Amino acid sequence: MNQFKNRGSGCLLGLAVGDALGAAVEFKPPGSFAPVTGYRAGGPHGLSPGEWTDDTSMALAMAESIAQVGWDLDDQARRYVDWWRNGTYSVNGRCFDIGITTRASLVLFERDGDARNSGDRAERASGNGSIMRLAPVPIRYLDHFPNQIEQLATLAAESSLPTHGSPQCLSACQYMALILAGLMHGLDRDTVLAPDWEPLEQLRRLQPLHPAVDVVALGSFRRLQPPEIQGSGYVVKSLEAALWAFHDAQDFREAVLKAVNLGDDADTTGAVCGQFAGAFWGEAGIPQEWLDGLAKREMLEQALTGLIVNNG
Ligand code: MG
Ligand code: MG
Repeated sequence: MNQFKNRGSGCLLGLAVGDALGAAVEFKPPGSFAPVTGYRAGGPHGLSPGEWTDDTSMALAMAESIAQVGWDLDDQARRYVDWWRNGTYSVNGRCFDIGITTRASLVLFERDGDARNSGDRAERASGNGSIMRLAPVPIRYLDHFPNQIEQLATLAAESSLPTHGSPQCLSACQYMALILAGLMHGLDRDTVLAPDWEPLEQLRRLQPLHPAVDVVALGSFRRLQPPEIQGSGYVVKSLEAALWAFHDAQDFREAVLKAVNLGDDADTTGAVCGQFAGAFWGEAGIPQEWLDGLAKREMLEQALTGLIVNNG
């Protein structure tokens, strides 16, 4: 497998693996459960080991949209509705876990048909629902890095709009897409996570990061530890927690287990961390038993074929 394909696959499969590992302890306070070491049954949705949740479903919906019609936010939103209403893109044929902000936005989209304006723009609506599904954007548009960072950042922010329109969410998607693109290009982890990484400085010149997101980009995840690091549903804390788990881990397994064992929004912290860790260590770095045990893996492989074969 070539290195680009390995890292692109790793990014999307890492998302799903992290989601599936965290699903069994979602909403549990940290320390209230036996540490996660692999897939297990249960959680609030009563899933089987290796089954994944909304994070992966929405990523699959966006991936299929990009592969089939190119960049079209209304088409992306229609597929999110198809997941919510009909269970398409779900692991077991039904949507069992849509977020509050996402549902409200899709209700608005069904009424107005305008995905660019359906996501709530209020600061209080800054959940992690758009960073959790981001991987298809930097995978498909990897060629925009490093010479067309503005285009990559624009697509990343737009991908948030159908459901999450707040400044924090847009900025977090831009920062995360840049880091993922750098990692998929084979750059070193310490290079892309440096507070003054040149592509990041370019992004800041184009569009200053939201101040709360810039605190993370400047390295809060290196200074803080739990309980300040939290597996929170708030986009900034979620991104920070995922980077805390990723930045000094020895391998994919260590990174993603650190993320999900924060509890609370464990599946999503796992999905965000899994994107970073998968982009860095590649599919080859994901433990084989986690790839083999991933439910409906063929849906992810199909999405990857659409994203990577059409690339360039
Ligand atoms: Mg989820
Ligand atoms: Mg979640």
